[in-house]
Amino acid sequence: GTQKARTGRLKKPFVKVEDMSQLYRPFYLQLTNMPFINYSIQKPSSPFDVDKPSSIQKQTQVKLRIQTDGNKRGGIPIQLQLKEKKKKGYCECCLQKYEDLESHLLSEQHRNFAQSNHYQVVDDIVSKLIFDFVEYERDMPKKKRIKYSI
Ligand SMILES: [Zn+2]
Repeated sequence: GTQKARTGRLKKPFVKVEDMSQLYRPFYLQLTNMPFINYSIQKPSSPFDVDKPSSIQKQTQVKLRIQTDGNKRGGIPIQLQLKEKKKKGYCECCLQKYEDLESHLLSEQHRNFAQSNHYQVVDDIVSKLIFDFVEYERDMPKKKRIKYSI
């Protein structure tokens, strides 16, 4: 169904960016409201922040959704959840997308890379630096005398 020719005109307002050679797919931005320089908003807020009640409502909706997720996870603080959501990404070592950073770091492919000699380029640069911190000996845990109970 997606092969069907999709023709027409973009709904206004929009921005369309296209390479002049027309070798690549154009990309679009379509918004109901284009950015507007808001001089009346308090500094240092972005002049593109909109202080309309509608945007506040949206934010509340997002928060509500996160809270619903939280119930499933058993009450993890919202801030932690937000951090977790950012853990999606792309690994430049494995050339692989991942859904969850922590579990990717534990994958066989990544651990193989992490323990390989692929970091030689980094080590070569590090070896040119001078170590001039005070290096203390490792703090040995004081051995507690074992008390024998008779
Ligand atoms: Zn990786």
